[in-house]
Amino acid sequence: MLELSIRIPATELRYQATANRTVNNRALIIENITQNVIRRLQSTSQNSTKDCGGCAFRQCNQGKRECDQAEAQQKIPVGVSARHAHVTQSDLEILYGSGHQLTVKAALYQPEAFAAVETVTVVGPRLKALESVRILGPVRSYSQVEIAKTDAVRLGLDPPIRDSGDLMGASPVTLIGPAGSVYLPEGAICAARHIHMKPEQAETFGVTEDDRLKVRVSGERALILENVRPKIDPSYVLQMHLDTDDSNAAGLKGGEGLEVLWDE
Ligand SMILES: [Zn+2]
Repeated sequence: MLELSIRIPATELRYQATANRTVNNRALIIENITQNVIRRLQSTSQNSTKDCGGCAFRQCNQGKRECDQAEAQQKIPVGVSARHAHVTQSDLEILYGSGHQLTVKAALYQPEAFAAVETVTVVGPRLKALESVRILGPVRSYSQVEIAKTDAVRLGLDPPIRDSGDLMGASPVTLIGPAGSVYLPEGAICAARHIHMKPEQAETFGVTEDDRLKVRVSGERALILENVRPKIDPSYVLQMHLDTDDSNAAGLKGGEGLEVLWDE
């Protein structure tokens, strides 16, 4: 083996040693920071209810969810519903290709409900669009988009205030996916303010689905929301759903507890 002997001056050697140490230190610092970040991320995801998409506080600790605390104080926890779409399996296959199944991105607070990975672009009659509108699963027996009035104005629509699935007279919209598009002649509504509850909770409140409730929001943008509809089903978890117009008007992020007002 051929050995090369090169004479490096002592000063040069000292310089290289210092340079190496600096590089090593920097690598060590970066390594430490990376480890810390990973540790923090892991500890947050372990403590949080990963399956909670109930509100803006997605990192609530298990057993200490904002919603649970609101409920314990006899209040109604709020969930903010941003614009979203529901689709039938056949429309999903037009939008995403034949045989396509929705993929769960995050579970929502109501059991079984989930935000899907799949999104659609919603186009109105003036060719203005809302991109990346999340599909909420599972698939349903109807396709529909629920948008805030602010979204509707952008699209050039004036949808009626309705319960989910009540689509007669709803506004026309086109949904566009990566594989195709679906025109819904009656497809867009603004969701009516509503509270999901179990029959026993409805009994405790003394309400039926025909009642309309008043709910008080306190705080800087305090207001009273009227015409809130109880939606009663054994599968529901107590939660009030507001669209982003209502939640922003009231300064709510989701997770807050609201008080029902009873007429004297
Ligand atoms: Zn709802």
